[in-house]
Amino acid sequence: MGKITGFMEYERIEEGYKPVPERVKHYKEFVIGLDDGQAKVQGARCMDCGTPFCNSGCPVNNVIPDFNDLVYRADWQNAFAVLDSTNNFPEFTGRICPAPCEEACVLNVNDEPVGIKSIEHAIIDRAWEHGWVRPRAAKIKTGKKVAVVGSGPAGMAAAQQLARAGHDVTLFEKNDRVGGLLRYGIPDFKMEKIHIDRRVDQMKAEGVQIRTGVMVGRLPEGSKVTNWAKETISPEELQEQFDAVLLTGGAEQSRDLPVPGRDLAGIHFAMEFLPLQNKVNAGDKVKGQIRADGKHVIVIGGGDTGSDCVGTSNRHGAASVTQFELMPQPPEHENKPLTWPYWPYKLRTSSSHEEGCEREFAISTKEFVGEKGKVTGLKTVRVEWKDGKMVEVPGSEQTLKADLVLLAMGFVSPVASILDGFRVEKDARGNAKATTEFSGGYATNVSKVFAAGDMRRGQSLVVWAIREGRQAARAVDEFLMGFSDLPR
Ligand SMILES: Cc1cc2nc3c(=O)[nH]c(=O)nc-3n(C[C@H](O)[C@H](O)[C@H](O)COP(=O)(O)OP(=O)(O)OC[C@H]3O[C@@H](n4cnc5c(N)ncnc54)[C@H](O)[C@@H]3O)c2cc1C
Ligand code: SF4
Repeated sequence: MGKITGFMEYERIEEGYKPVPERVKHYKEFVIGLDDGQAKVQGARCMDCGTPFCNSGCPVNNVIPDFNDLVYRADWQNAFAVLDSTNNFPEFTGRICPAPCEEACVLNVNDEPVGIKSIEHAIIDRAWEHGWVRPRAAKIKTGKKVAVVGSGPAGMAAAQQLARAGHDVTLFEKNDRVGGLLRYGIPDFKMEKIHIDRRVDQMKAEGVQIRTGVMVGRLPEGSKVTNWAKETISPEELQEQFDAVLLTGGAEQSRDLPVPGRDLAGIHFAMEFLPLQNKVNAGDKVKGQIRADGKHVIVIGGGDTGSDCVGTSNRHGAASVTQFELMPQPPEHENKPLTWPYWPYKLRTSSSHEEGCEREFAISTKEFVGEKGKVTGLKTVRVEWKDGKMVEVPGSEQTLKADLVLLAMGFVSPVASILDGFRVEKDARGNAKATTEFSGGYATNVSKVFAAGDMRRGQSLVVWAIREGRQAARAVDEFLMGFSDLPR
């Protein structure tokens, strides 16, 4: 373990942020990571618990006490080896994971969990700096061909694992670059895209063939899902050409708000707004970018996606940014005995909120109003929750000014036509139906077709996508070879 008395001697150290006035001028990352001394102190705080709740709280089951100890001992290279054994992309999670491991940490009982995410961030950045992250091409090829459809974190993790197991893997992506929501959802100020590009180079060196701009199946007419495909392949062609197909196409169908006035100009899904800014940051010429400059922006939806719209709008120079949440304001502090070691219900304030945002809770939008076909405001009402039902508060109606409305109310499901194209059965929520049980896990009802990530579990987190990609890779490997040495 770290230092036996470390948890009593040292306090938790948080990563810093560059000042707001400076960081809102650009789209670069602004988190100030721990220096070596600070990381060592964080590692020293770990108690190496008999039951390390951090490890089961982490969806990829990172071996957290071990890398905490190694960082304390300044054995960074072995700390990287431990981290790399469970997580293909710690530089993604070390930046944008909400860190359920820290909520589960035993020291969180006192509100002072080990800074696990900041240690992960420090280890992997150091590993890249020192050239320890290298391609690991398979020594023996199996001759089996696997298609992975969708290049988000689930598809990337699966493709990498399958290539390392010796299969010929082709990763298909309808957009022009690899990364899924990491590339075109999550803004650069949370995670710069060099981190994806470096992994793409590593995967190519490991033998993964990357085919961007290729749509597998079809989107429905008028779909607003991002699509920069130049080519289409039918599900039948794919099934003929490959020994196994893994669907990792995400849950891209945005939840809509079909109230009067929805068709006014100036009302967009978050996923129409955010991808274009990421394209501009990448140096692409973008026609008709949705901009927030000088506008009164209302973001409907209180989650991560909404918060990313807030941060991007402030960087555009919005006149005001307001974020709506239907649910009441959560408590500042969780009820620890009730929730620990699970994910607690509490108010979360992101770095984007700190940059300037009015947050309105328990508010519902009844109607969009406009002039000359353009949105000018929203009619709202306050709501309360009684016996589990939402009721409107009489007399609380208001009209608020808005020139740009961003709908960030989450994602309903994968795009149905993609799953239908493969004749894959859906569950009650419209996701690809497949269990995660070890034997036959991730397999759909269709022979040799598997599904993982948001496409299987519904809208979730990057770390869950990585877990599912890794586990599905093992399931596919086992299906092809009769056994698998890939870690689960
Ligand atoms: C704005 C935003 C911010 C978020 N912030 C965070 C965060 O801070 N932390 C966190 O942990 N999670 C966050 N999430 C959630 C996280 O990004 C997702 O849970 C995760 O990316 C899901 O990974 P995935 O690989 O399953 O799917 P995705 O990342 O959605 O990738 C699916 C890919 O498949 C492609 N595809 C789909 N269908 C086809 C087809 N038929 N043919 C070819 N290609 C296809 C898509 O173009 C896409 O590139 C955020 C999500 C959004 C929208
Ligand atoms: S729960 Fe916290 S203190 Fe215990 S082993 Fe995990 S990181 Fe260390």
